[in-house]
Amino acid sequence: MSVEAVIEKSKEASVLSSTQQVIKQALSKLGYKDEMFELLKEPVRMLTVRIPIRMDNGDIKVFTGYRAQHNDAVGPTKGGIRFHPEVTEDDVKALSMWMTLKCGIVNVPYGGGKGGIVCDPRTMSFSELERLSRGYVRAISQLVGPTKDIPAPDVFTNSQVMAWMMDEYSRIREFDSPGFITGKPVVLGGSYGRETATAMGVAICIEEAAKKKEMNIVGAKIIIQGFGNAGGYLAKILSEQGAKIIGVSDAYAALYDENGLDINYLLEKRDSFGTVTNLFKNTITNQELLERECDILVPAAVANQITRDNAHQIKASIVVEAANGPTTMEATTILTNRDILIVPDVLASSGGVTVSYFEWVQNNLGYYWSEEEVSEKLRAKVISAFNSVIDTANLHKVDTRLAAYMVGVRKTAEASRFRGWV
Ligand code: GLU
Repeated sequence: MSVEAVIEKSKEASVLSSTQQVIKQALSKLGYKDEMFELLKEPVRMLTVRIPIRMDNGDIKVFTGYRAQHNDAVGPTKGGIRFHPEVTEDDVKALSMWMTLKCGIVNVPYGGGKGGIVCDPRTMSFSELERLSRGYVRAISQLVGPTKDIPAPDVFTNSQVMAWMMDEYSRIREFDSPGFITGKPVVLGGSYGRETATAMGVAICIEEAAKKKEMNIVGAKIIIQGFGNAGGYLAKILSEQGAKIIGVSDAYAALYDENGLDINYLLEKRDSFGTVTNLFKNTITNQELLERECDILVPAAVANQITRDNAHQIKASIVVEAANGPTTMEATTILTNRDILIVPDVLASSGGVTVSYFEWVQNNLGYYWSEEEVSEKLRAKVISAFNSVIDTANLHKVDTRLAAYMVGVRKTAEASRFRGWV
């Protein structure tokens, strides 16, 4: 499937409206009145900015950027910044709501936030990206800060982008502000384990889900859709644990080998955007990959990949959503009725923000932890989050997605009520 087709597919249903629907159901299951939904159905603040940047050829190009703050009853808002040509205002709103849910699920003291810039970093030079990153921070600087709203990496942004943004913010404020942003390089106050945190969180969820299904990770056949930050590290972690990675993909095509792929070779060959299939002749499409025989399927790419059209063809007995919103609501019902265990996105991908929280705590303390300490604390948080979601699903007899939303939204709803907002 071409990039355009993948993007087209991801736009099939509005992520914002389906997120709102599940939040509404979660709040009503928890016994809240409609007023609570009225407060939580949209971000409390949404900023749109225009950022003029001088390109390398001398022309000025004006980029559009967004920052959404879903709700700050629990504490400052928190969430990544994505650079993507297709990012929309509604996507950023929905993504900020997902951050509220993730923070609630792993119990870190933040509300959800999210940012985005409409741009294609694959076609921009290093210095153009630096100017854009700095320009964005200048445009949003009034709204963000270590005790207000703390950005982080997301799709197509990385520790270098975080470093430029932290530097720009520190210059504006005239003091060093490492706690303004997370996902920084370790020498600038980043945390050990942050870069691999999302993948580690997914891997921990896979271990726990496998236990529930009495499946052994050693020898388990796993397909991972997406080979970027999350998908790539995940493939490495799982293959080191003895699993057999039989399929991976990028935005263009997929590789499949039922005897297992050589993950280290593929990681060595991929470019910084996770593209690797262009080096191979024997490829299949992303859609074909999802329907291949496997034990565990991990959609780690874009939204709306498992829909009512292919949910009946999924062969895995566990689906772990490392991407945001890869399974539609109709597909969730189909998979749940087929007794396929879904580990929903807001739980599976919560490892990133968990270690971001650890990074921010370390920045505030000025005291830094070892990689082992970080990874132990991450494991404890993700396992306890996994268990609360599964327990809630069993107790309320709801699917795991609704259960995750119930666990995720509860803290923000309670904090909003105590503050007297609703
Ligand atoms: N962008 C990541 C996410 O969607 C991380 C956010 C953060 O670390 O604040 O979960």
